[in-house]
Amino acid sequence: MTDRLYYTDARLDRFTAAVLDIADEGRRVYLDRTAFYPTSGGQLHDLGTLGGIAVVDVIDEDKRIAHCLAESIGVPIGAMLVGQIDMTRRVDHMQQHTGQHLLSAMLTDHYGWPTLSVHFGDDTNTVDVAAEDLDPASLADLERRANALIVQNRPVTVSFEDAAAATGLRKPSDRNGELRIVTIEGIDRSACGGTHVVSTGEIGALLLRRAEKTKGHTRLEFVCGHRAVTRARADADLLTRAARALSAAPHDLPGLVEQQTQRIADGERERKRMGAELARYEAAALWTASIPDSDGVRRIVVSTTAPVKEAEPLAQQLIALGFCAVVVTNATLGAVLLAAAEDTGIDAGQRLRTALQAVGGRGGGSPRMAQGSVSDPDGVMLVLESLGFAGALPAH
Ligand SMILES: [Zn+2]
Repeated sequence: MTDRLYYTDARLDRFTAAVLDIADEGRRVYLDRTAFYPTSGGQLHDLGTLGGIAVVDVIDEDKRIAHCLAESIGVPIGAMLVGQIDMTRRVDHMQQHTGQHLLSAMLTDHYGWPTLSVHFGDDTNTVDVAAEDLDPASLADLERRANALIVQNRPVTVSFEDAAAATGLRKPSDRNGELRIVTIEGIDRSACGGTHVVSTGEIGALLLRRAEKTKGHTRLEFVCGHRAVTRARADADLLTRAARALSAAPHDLPGLVEQQTQRIADGERERKRMGAELARYEAAALWTASIPDSDGVRRIVVSTTAPVKEAEPLAQQLIALGFCAVVVTNATLGAVLLAAAEDTGIDAGQRLRTALQAVGGRGGGSPRMAQGSVSDPDGVMLVLESLGFAGALPAH
């Protein structure tokens, strides 16, 4: 059984221990005691060195803790080793973890939302709470109150109490025997095996980045300590860059983005209106320049490099002029559009479908407008021929 030194002293960064067992060709070491925290309870494992060799993972095997090393340790069982914890990483984890206790306690006390699950990442952390939603104003208020409690520098203490006698726990423990209880004075009592700072002031700061609605609950993203400052700095840099790109002050961004979005929408509407206007002029010119076939129908071919669908307004304007059928082709894409005025008696959908099927293509549409494609671009010419448009000169 490994004696867990971090249970009673989370600030212990250097220790000496005896090797009890070695596995994995010297890369997995078991000690009689350790200050290395293993991944558990959502908190990530420590890094550091053991006997001068890098510790890459620390695994909780219930009774024992396994120290996974970057290379073989090369000492016999019984040897004494010095362990050194990477305290920058540890303190960061302690800040995130204690911040989560504080946040979960506040969410329960102020909103009645118990914490459903917690995730600590290398970059950011989340708590899922049983809530429908949390609006931005409430999020900001929660953050402000959490930071006020941090400034009050309330003691965070660890005690060992019998499960049967332990009262006032935020979440009842289903364990028997001795519980390790972490108390934030006047705020929280939780059974927890993790590492924590000794007073709320050491959390430093708590930044609530956002609330996101997920299936039936709400996920809050938060960061504490140095990470809160680093993240706020990164957010500020992003805002500055976005503001510079728009030649504006950061606080003018929301209004400006709204304004620009509206202008783009207006511009798009105007572009469509002008496109339709242009199609009307183009159609009139094409219709006038074309010569009717013996059946009185003007057959016009338009080749394009754009998707044939974009020529729909032009085709519509053409058939509106009457006694006219138009084919739009994109030879590269093997795409064909056929439109026919009602007075031509041509069923565009049926004619195009038949013509395409004959060359292994697919498509269809209404009697007035149809679209389709062939897999082989050469098939476009065959489709034109079978539609009776082979003689019509491409208009442009
Ligand atoms: Zn904890």
